[in-house]
Amino acid sequence: MKLTAKGRLLTDVGRTRGHVGTMKEICDEFFWRMLKQTAKSVLGPGTRERVGAFYFLIERYWYKRVAYKHLRRIRRETRELCWCGGRLSPFQWQLSYGVCQACGCYVNRRPPLQEELKRLYSLDLYWHIKQRADGLPTIEQRPAYDKGDGRVDFMLKLIAKYGPAKGRVIEIGCAHGIVLKELKEHGYECIGVEIDERTASWTSNTMGVEVRTGVFPGIKLPPCDIFLSCDVLEHVNEPEAFMNEAARLLNPGGIAIIQTAVDRYDYVPPFGRRFRHAFDDSEHVYIFTDKALQELARRAVLKVVTLSECIWLMGEICVFEKSNEA
Ligand SMILES: [Zn+2]
Repeated sequence: MKLTAKGRLLTDVGRTRGHVGTMKEICDEFFWRMLKQTAKSVLGPGTRERVGAFYFLIERYWYKRVAYKHLRRIRRETRELCWCGGRLSPFQWQLSYGVCQACGCYVNRRPPLQEELKRLYSLDLYWHIKQRADGLPTIEQRPAYDKGDGRVDFMLKLIAKYGPAKGRVIEIGCAHGIVLKELKEHGYECIGVEIDERTASWTSNTMGVEVRTGVFPGIKLPPCDIFLSCDVLEHVNEPEAFMNEAARLLNPGGIAIIQTAVDRYDYVPPFGRRFRHAFDDSEHVYIFTDKALQELARRAVLKVVTLSECIWLMGEICVFEKSNEA
């Protein structure tokens, strides 16, 4: 604040707007300055960060309550057997899951009904409420977030390492579509699939990639050379049907890159610090083992290329190939 030649007070607000401040603006500015000074003197250095963290916690708590209200209305089925037909043993760390005696998969005993998936993975409930409740970015923030943490570059390098240099890519559960957008810029023909119409049209309009709406398997798709699904297989009610359809769509020599949570570790409980996230029974139906993925590949007549790629804990990756003789 300073005095002008005419002796009137020129406020910060006034200067940014190019005019001398009114009395109301002067009073407002004075009030906010006092409030800031008081907050600074009470809370000391790092105030902005502390207030930010506090606000984040309050927001997350609020979204958790809202998410809980919606999620408890999602109808569920009862599951007594694993997808492979194996019987389930109790899982001591999370009673809503069982452990398959045959393939070692963790199986959600009360997964969402197939007909509820569209509602569960909708733009509002999943991308604006559930993600915030889990402390994760919304769909609008996600492209920059995923590029920032390196997962997009990792996926592009993985495709360059194992996949053909050109052709058609299909990504199931493409969400915000950042990987498809990048692949399209590298010359691939890209098609995404999303279960929710509004999510599909958001991605299509924002990222400029083709996104079809529907449930996979079931939706009509052309043959492809690269089949992608990231953080999707653990949400699928029928993983065997999912992998069989992926194999059917692949051209001979084509590859499937599946990123999903695979328990390859000795953590107790499984996935250690990420246990709660892995065993989120509101959305995760199966948590896999390498043995289960090998069996899925065998039944779909796909060759296992590698089960050792991994971006981070719960970001385990499996690469399969459809043989040229198929
Ligand atoms: Zn099993």
